Amino acid sequence: MLKDAHHRSIQYVRLSVTDRCNLRCTYCMPEHMQFLERDALLSYEEIERTMRVLASAGVTKLRITGGEPFLRKNLLHLLGKLAPLTDISITTNGVLTTPFIPALKELGIRKINLSLDTLQADRFLRITRRNRFTQVMATLENLLAHQMDVKVNMVVMDGMNTDELHAFAALTRENRLSVRFIEEMPFNGQGKGFSGINWHYRKILDTLGEQYTLKKIQDEAGSTSLNYIIPGHLGTVGVIPAYSRTFCGTCNRLRITPTGGVKTCLYGDDVMNIRDSLRSGASDAALLEALQTAVWHKKKDGFEAAAASQRSQHESMSVIGG
Ligand code: SAM
Ligand code: SF4
Repeated sequence: MLKDAHHRSIQYVRLSVTDRCNLRCTYCMPEHMQFLERDALLSYEEIERTMRVLASAGVTKLRITGGEPFLRKNLLHLLGKLAPLTDISITTNGVLTTPFIPALKELGIRKINLSLDTLQADRFLRITRRNRFTQVMATLENLLAHQMDVKVNMVVMDGMNTDELHAFAALTRENRLSVRFIEEMPFNGQGKGFSGINWHYRKILDTLGEQYTLKKIQDEAGSTSLNYIIPGHLGTVGVIPAYSRTFCGTCNRLRITPTGGVKTCLYGDDVMNIRDSLRSGASDAALLEALQTAVWHKKKDGFEAAAASQRSQHESMSVIGG
């Protein structure tokens, strides 16, 4: 199995299938991104083989992310291959998602995280640099109409959308969805570093508490979010202390970048490369052994991983996958 030296085991893989995106969220990437060449990406065959190896080692959950995953050509083909191996969820910006919903349901994929940072069209344009608010809101409606298991992820940005926390929480009144407020992290692909954040999860909770009564509910094992119900609401709200990194002690995840880089921590460097191993002829057993070694050396927490990083600046979140 995949165990680390801090008594954690890995059951959850987050796979970024492309670094390309049809939005340009300011906290994630610059307007002019240098995108990867297509043959640098893990092929679908390489992804399937990797997931077979990981599933044999106890991985039961896979999140498909990006970049924007629905931009990768023939994504449904890949999902069809992976669905028998693990439980799949997808993180999407919602621009292209709607037509895929019936096919996702056919494959048994119902868990969708939709990224939405504002409920105002003009602000959406300022945050994402693209005029796609209408499509994303239509996707939210369609996902709910199809009874998909929807989580709305809102990155809380100082001076940008903090006046909308109550409006986002209000979405849970009539809708069976979860709204999660994410602390902003320094991964905008332009070296935006910060040594602290104003809107940390406690401040987010305090602000929600000004309007709503929050009742703590049980979080899933290995969850990065702290979750609550508001009495009388159908949905739930949560906060993700992504910058404060309070959840590292129970981290059960591994990240794979579009080029096959393996990250045992969001804040750390790649610790091995699956594509290079496979293209140099590694057997499944050799790949598993390399993954086991990489996981064993997983850093205690995101602070230790950041301190050990060799990079002078963080990359774009579109490569890491969130
Ligand atoms: N394009 C898809 C989307 O936006 O949902 C999937 C990829 S995106 C990188 C995955 C998640 O990372 C999104 O929920 C996004 O809001 C989040 N994210 C990106 N950059 C971030 C940052 N600097 N801080 C916090 N969350 C970030
Ligand atoms: Fe694209 Fe998602 Fe990054 Fe926004 S957060 S630029 S939608 S990859």
